[in-house]
Amino acid sequence: MSRLVLVINSGSSSIKYELVDVARGRAVASGLVEQIGEPQGRLVHEYDGRTSEWHGEITDHTHGLTLAYRTFAETGLDLDEAGVAAVGHRIVHGGKVFTQPTLITPEVVETIERLADLAPLHNPANIIGIEVAREHFPDVPHVGVFDTGFFHTLPPAAAAYAIDADVAEEYGVQRYGFHGTSHEYVSEETARLLGSPRDEVNTIVLHLGNGASASAVRGGVAVETSMGLTPLEGLVMGTRPGDVDPGVLLHLGRHAGMDIADIDELLNRRSGLKGLSGVNDFRTVTERREAGDPRAALAYDVYVHRLRKYVGAYMAVLGRVDAITFTAGVGENAASVREDALAGLEGFGIEVDPAANRVRGGHGRVISTAASKTAVLVVPTNEELAIANAAWAFV
Ligand code: AMP
Repeated sequence: MSRLVLVINSGSSSIKYELVDVARGRAVASGLVEQIGEPQGRLVHEYDGRTSEWHGEITDHTHGLTLAYRTFAETGLDLDEAGVAAVGHRIVHGGKVFTQPTLITPEVVETIERLADLAPLHNPANIIGIEVAREHFPDVPHVGVFDTGFFHTLPPAAAAYAIDADVAEEYGVQRYGFHGTSHEYVSEETARLLGSPRDEVNTIVLHLGNGASASAVRGGVAVETSMGLTPLEGLVMGTRPGDVDPGVLLHLGRHAGMDIADIDELLNRRSGLKGLSGVNDFRTVTERREAGDPRAALAYDVYVHRLRKYVGAYMAVLGRVDAITFTAGVGENAASVREDALAGLEGFGIEVDPAANRVRGGHGRVISTAASKTAVLVVPTNEELAIANAAWAFV
């Protein structure tokens, strides 16, 4: 029987997909469909060491997925012949309902639809991905893996916002957390690399990609995370600000003539690194900073400062920290961020080894000194593999 699982991450204007061989724990083929609904769409597909591109209008998600299936066949791996044993879907918001990977049924789809109020950009796109994939693969299990799922264990003290409790209850206003699949996978990998049982390791995970979030994981159980009701809270991100005094928004509403749509746009697209420096890509921020651009320098400093604050806070939340693990695009690649975020913490038992920190490589590794009481690690995240494994459990 095939051990191939197709993983689909159907976002608001793009679809990422990966065909995972769960027996070998690696991707066989992967791709990205971008700019859906715009005149110039693009599909990039990788298989067997070769990259194929397609350019043209991609009218909607159905069209995008159809193109992806066709590209599989055209580049030598016909999905119908290869045999897909299950499809794993990344779903952004599971609310309080979905805490575990869930077999998708019509009732489950209805519930995800109901939760779209909490994630208006994401859940509807996730549902389209499910519907199109079920037409193509009607006979295999489809499994939803929820970005919020890993954080359902947050204690009430971490999950509640200190606002009117009745309003919070009526509108589902609480902290849910996101990037859960990555935080779970990376904390498990951390324990494995340290050679300890998962339930004995306390870890701070720093997922630093385009979106960024921190978590505190006690013995495999999430007890704190930096994202909240939506993925806006917490760390500085590519285009999102992370923590902002809510009074700023009232001030802008009253004095800058901004309505809800303007504020939404400000917070989701014109903040974070982009807001501070004009660019959202961390590499470009770094280049400009090194070239002497003061706005890029400030963006970098705000980014690192926020990170340090969260590390300190989560040390206090956990009490004993065995590991601090960096992951995702910035976390895996930007040695200076790792060094600067943890500099001067020797008194707390945290000591990064500068030489180990500079070593590059796509593998999990320890970058702290032998004397460091808290191990510091870099662990490449692999949400697709985690989703594929979760879906495979239903085969
Ligand atoms: P992700 O969302 O995990 O794909 O991460 C995307 C972010 O990682 C972008 O801001 C990239 O600029 C950043 N990134 C990727 N490679 C590097 C690198 N070599 N050095 C610094 N940042 C990087």
